[in-house]
Amino acid sequence: MKRLCFLCQSETEVIFSTTWVLPGLAPREIGFSVCPECGSVCQSPSVSFDEMMTFYSSMAVYTNPGRQEKPTDAKVRDLDEQIQFIRRGIGYLPNSALQIGSSDGYTLSRFRDAGVKRVLGVEPGTASVELAKRLYQIDCIHDSAEQFETNEQFELIILTHVLEHLYQPQMTLKKCRQLQQLPTEGFIYVEVPLMAKPASLCPGFFSFEHINYYTRDNLVRSLTDAGYSVVSLVEHYNSNLSPIIGVLASTRPQSHCDEFVANVVGNRAILQDYRAKEVAYWQGCLDAILPQLQQSKRIFLWGAGIHTSQIVANTTLLADCKINGLTDTSSLKWGLRQGDWHCQAPDSIDWQPGDCVLISSYASEKEIFDALLWLRDIGVTTLRLHNVDDTRSH
Ligand SMILES: [Zn+2]
Repeated sequence: MKRLCFLCQSETEVIFSTTWVLPGLAPREIGFSVCPECGSVCQSPSVSFDEMMTFYSSMAVYTNPGRQEKPTDAKVRDLDEQIQFIRRGIGYLPNSALQIGSSDGYTLSRFRDAGVKRVLGVEPGTASVELAKRLYQIDCIHDSAEQFETNEQFELIILTHVLEHLYQPQMTLKKCRQLQQLPTEGFIYVEVPLMAKPASLCPGFFSFEHINYYTRDNLVRSLTDAGYSVVSLVEHYNSNLSPIIGVLASTRPQSHCDEFVANVVGNRAILQDYRAKEVAYWQGCLDAILPQLQQSKRIFLWGAGIHTSQIVANTTLLADCKINGLTDTSSLKWGLRQGDWHCQAPDSIDWQPGDCVLISSYASEKEIFDALLWLRDIGVTTLRLHNVDDTRSH
């Protein structure tokens, strides 16, 4: 499916595309495009909205082994900062907050603990709605960003790592503005991955789940177009796996930021440079472990998901090795077809000494590796594709 620009609705121009094998979906072309009018980068061609929802439903209760429903250290730190940043930008913490995409409820629990009296979430995932209630006593509207409705008005609306997932992000921002028709000033806090220079972007930055890409300029324009005025900005390049940008904006008109200027040439170059780097990176990782892989009796890929799609799309793995199967701890994945394999439960495989498991997740590589000690104990080799001890997580 070809998409129009998420910001200005123009037709977009494909810069690169590849065939992806995705869990539960037929193989298809996924690409990344630039808007010739405003320069915004988006995923196009993409899967349809309904197919994306099918994909999310197979990921819904996915939690990494060993985390035990607790926020990561990075998440705790990020919330410390977000609360301080918003308090500083406004001068006080508002009385009410709505978070769209409230996930397990941790973020809202922190705002409540910091003194926000009324907090409410919007969350499409059934498991997340239940977790938020059970872990933090946070109430949610069980619905999507696109479809939820409420008559309540909120002083603060929070959208952290949401806009990059939405097919029509501007509609959601305009809906937020409708929920802030207050006589007093209202605020919105938006945080998204920042499309910076290619050297600053991690492997897999242009990803399946992220269908819109933001620079400082087009994020400011997104908010301005929806009726907000930016009052505070923060950018981090090294703190998380990918660069991120956080913006606080107000319903009160003010003009601190420059007029929008489209950067079509620069953004097109980012996509092209990134693609060349990415192909070299993934193949380099594979080449480093190929001798060990080829000595293994049987090879299983760990995880029915995006990283398996990426290793297949970006390397010569299938030409170099025979892959015997696919395994994952999430019961939602068992039986799902991805490429030529059906995902099996780890304890349903008759592991033999000399077998090999290939871990290709970048974000959770170490966590998964640590949890697979039981396999190493019975003589199975566990190989890490990226082999980085990156403690920064999403
Ligand atoms: Zn555009």
